Amino acid sequence: MDLAESVKNKAIRAAANAFIDRTVDSLANDPEGGIRRLVDKAGKLNSLGLYPPKYLDAIRNAAADPDNVYMRMAERWVREVDPEVLKQLLRSLGVEAGYFGTKTARRNREVLKCNIPWLILLDPTSACNLKCKGCWAAEYGYRQSLSIEEMRSVINQGRELGVHVYMYTGGEPLIRKKDIITLCREFRDCAFLSFTNATLIDDAFCAEMKDVGNLVLALSIEGSQKSNDSRRGEGAYEATRNAMLLLKKHRLFYGVSVCYTRENLESVTNDDFLDMLVSDGVKFGMYFNYMPVGAGADKELIPTPQQRKYMYYWLRRVRNAKSGKQLLVMDFQDDGEYVGGCIAGGRNYFHINSSGDMEPCVFIHYSDSNIRSKTILEALKSPLFMSYYKGQPFNDNHLRPCPMLENPDKLCEIIERTGAKSTELIEPEDVKSLTDKCRDFAAAWESVADEIWAENPHPDPHTSYYRDNHQV
Ligand code: SF4
Repeated sequence: MDLAESVKNKAIRAAANAFIDRTVDSLANDPEGGIRRLVDKAGKLNSLGLYPPKYLDAIRNAAADPDNVYMRMAERWVREVDPEVLKQLLRSLGVEAGYFGTKTARRNREVLKCNIPWLILLDPTSACNLKCKGCWAAEYGYRQSLSIEEMRSVINQGRELGVHVYMYTGGEPLIRKKDIITLCREFRDCAFLSFTNATLIDDAFCAEMKDVGNLVLALSIEGSQKSNDSRRGEGAYEATRNAMLLLKKHRLFYGVSVCYTRENLESVTNDDFLDMLVSDGVKFGMYFNYMPVGAGADKELIPTPQQRKYMYYWLRRVRNAKSGKQLLVMDFQDDGEYVGGCIAGGRNYFHINSSGDMEPCVFIHYSDSNIRSKTILEALKSPLFMSYYKGQPFNDNHLRPCPMLENPDKLCEIIERTGAKSTELIEPEDVKSLTDKCRDFAAAWESVADEIWAENPHPDPHTSYYRDNHQV
């Protein structure tokens, strides 16, 4: 970056942060009027080219509509979340990750000719104090951890590339909550999200979260008490509900992560469940299709094609601006059309396990690179990651995005050609055995997915946040 650009960036950062401070203060005093005033001012911000003008029109129309679910949701967020937390999240997520990070990652993609992610997932530890049925994390055992120096090095390397969002998976990441808070304090230009089983959230930790402001939690929950505890163990549901109320009391920003299976789908999508989340102060729901990864996985838990079809239409119903829920709901498997298909292999993200293996996806446990012997950039240029770069999208129908679940031949071919090794620590999993568990579903889903794809319009997303052109 030359001197002129650095001076310009400094000025943009100062102006954006001052705008955030003024706006949040004004919103906190008058949420409803404040949002309308903010939308009026938003046009000025667009001189930075942050988003296409049609998005601004849509936001203006929404703000003018008294029944718009998203406006009511925004007011609720302003009322429920501490203003200092909101400011810090907007700075690290909006200004640093959204604006500067996106710009740097885009430029690096052009120059370096490989995938450059926007976020990185990492497992601070494989340790977990629960043992959920079918959870891949449990298979990693209790011995592996990334040191805080290794986590710091990942973040430093990532920032150079343009990555300002880091998500902790595991294992139970909050076993390392002291280190997580330390890194939140050190890297004010980054936003952190931790998935968690919620059992280690207490008043003291909430106070630390509020103090740093750039840490968001996604609590695991799977529907009703019965359906949740049958997979996650007795007491898990109560622990999660108690933690939600604690987070709400401390005015923090948090969501849930939901793994949907053939058995729990009704329980995790019914209106009572969603209404309970909203009333417990939950702001977003990240839904994940059950993936049959690891020797202990049960392929009978993969949702059926009819259930996936139900999910597709359910998502659109709960996100409807007139009749939906005041909850941001997203689905890792059925929202591919908004991000151009598979986002793994560094296209938007990749995963580092607790042994330091860099894997294309949190569900794809194969690797040819480890942070203890390679840099992140070297991994992104490795044969495995370059296969993603060259192969994406793996299917033109983004309802069939995955090289494992929906296109199993693709993953077989990639792993066999690149020689990437299984990173399942307890019992290595041959790619053929893994993909064989997906073949029945892939074959049955193909015609259903193609039918849904053909009969529905598709968004024309502003995918310059993503590398959306096919590379050869
Ligand atoms: S590899 Fe599969 S599960 Fe992972 S991001 Fe790509 S489509 Fe999703």
